[in-house]
Amino acid sequence: MKVARDTVVTLHYTLTDDSGEVLDSSAGGEPLGYLHGHGNIIPGLEKALEGNSAGFQSVVTISAAEGYGEKNPGAIFDAPRKHFPADMPLAPGGRVQTQGDHGPVTLTIVKVTDDSVTLDGNHPLAGKTLHFDVEIVDVRDASSEELAHGHVHGHGGHHH
Ligand code: ZN
Repeated sequence: MKVARDTVVTLHYTLTDDSGEVLDSSAGGEPLGYLHGHGNIIPGLEKALEGNSAGFQSVVTISAAEGYGEKNPGAIFDAPRKHFPADMPLAPGGRVQTQGDHGPVTLTIVKVTDDSVTLDGNHPLAGKTLHFDVEIVDVRDASSEELAHGHVHGHGGHHH
């Protein structure tokens, strides 16, 4: 069976950046399952998997535009230090959660001074070229329930 819209793809992946540093990997764990053609994974990876079958293995390079997007300078801003609890550990590279218009948003701390904290609302992988070492484990038809929900159930997917 080939990867196409409305199929469920199960795959193992290792994601590295340009320097070869591993950012994320399913190796040694459960493979990732996703519903193809529903924007559940980045567009560049969907494109690379489209039309392939179980056993397909490749290293795919994906530009930021086809990945998590370019970094938006407008999403980097300063917040007053006093808005954060005094005992809250704040260090560059750390993450803070805040309530956005569409649910919780994770911000990355860029810089901390006595008066202000510089925060970055971009996705941590925005602006990065991504290298995916992927192997398709399984391709199957999605159930009608999965199609209605827009995501995968069971193994490697949502449990509810
Ligand atoms: Zn569901």
